[in-house]
Amino acid sequence: MYIKYKYLKLNIQNYHVLFSEILGLDDLKTTLVQAVQNNHVAHAQLFLGREGTGNLSLALAYATYLNCQNPTETDSCGKCPSCSRIKKQIDPDLHFVFPTANVKPPSQKGKGKGKTEDEEEESSNKRYLSDDFLPEWRSFLATNPYGNLNDWGKSFGLAENKQSIIPVDEGRKIISKLMLSSFSGGYKVLILWLPELMNSSAANAILKILEEPPAKTIFLLVSNNINLMLPTILSRTQIVAIRQFTDQEIETYLKQKYPALTQQVLLETSLIADGNLAEALRKIEQGQGTQQAFLEKWLRASYTIYKDFGAIQKLTEEFSELNKDEQKNMLLYALSIFRQGLVVKYGDANMIRLSAETLDFVKKFANASINEHNIQPLHLALSEAMQHIDRNASAKIMFTDLSFQLARLFRINV
Ligand SMILES: [Zn+2]
Repeated sequence: MYIKYKYLKLNIQNYHVLFSEILGLDDLKTTLVQAVQNNHVAHAQLFLGREGTGNLSLALAYATYLNCQNPTETDSCGKCPSCSRIKKQIDPDLHFVFPTANVKPPSQKGKGKGKTEDEEEESSNKRYLSDDFLPEWRSFLATNPYGNLNDWGKSFGLAENKQSIIPVDEGRKIISKLMLSSFSGGYKVLILWLPELMNSSAANAILKILEEPPAKTIFLLVSNNINLMLPTILSRTQIVAIRQFTDQEIETYLKQKYPALTQQVLLETSLIADGNLAEALRKIEQGQGTQQAFLEKWLRASYTIYKDFGAIQKLTEEFSELNKDEQKNMLLYALSIFRQGLVVKYGDANMIRLSAETLDFVKKFANASINEHNIQPLHLALSEAMQHIDRNASAKIMFTDLSFQLARLFRINV
């Protein structure tokens, strides 16, 4: 549990609240902004877009724009008290409801010390709701705003075969939340993610308030699938159709987020993703998982290269079976881990955005093997190896040679 909690703490960062922080979709942003400027804000809107589109991000930026005290023609200011509160995830006028499962949120664990997870679940008859999952939700929305239901479940450790839904209690809670008056005097906004997962009692509970909401109350329903929506809900909302991202937009996004990726990987990933940014990100993360596993084996084998040459030989075979791009990506990945190792060791580990598992690996490795004296020679060795790949040198010879160089460089101590 400690590891999961650490992961959450590590990854909590500000929300992206500006339209300009969302990839592409300029046409839609203009329409949304103009609706506010012209005072044509429908009180119940359905941000409809397939999985991996920008529908949730746009709803958040739109909610911010609605209450911004100093908006420009195209965006929120990002600095006024309202924008700052939303960005820091402390705005009392912005509410979230989303699917949850009947498990105890990780952020609430540790309270029943000494009990196993199952015992904790059994001993509690409480149905945890969105408000109980807010720390997890904030982390998810800040770090993975294009993620899908599965990504959300995974982020709080939900088993893949378990379902999340929006239960009836949540419907009742929505009503009580929105009955409170606004904190700032502006709009109260409720972002309801995946309303198609409301069970029918939850949907029925909010029908009335959806049709006749209290003054200055806005519902932003963010849905992936119009076919699963109850007609009674659908008929009460105005649809904002969110198109999918273009291949080019996805490529641009990935390039910014993962500067070390080669053009070929960027291109392939954006084509496979087919407009689904969540899918593109998953593909990249999966690739990095494989790379990490290989790198761990490789570093270990480099340490023992003089005692056990067999381990390096085996990895050399594995490496030579990758294509040129995969080989270069592997080396780029190693380079980025070395650099991050240096930051973890001498700088601020909080600046690093890695999962808890990867961070542990980087820490251990960096403490033993990376320092200010060997980082540059390591950089040089890897860069030269990449040039050899470009020049079609034998991958086997290059990799074996590089492994010997690493073994030597890791032994340089302060
Ligand atoms: Zn503002």
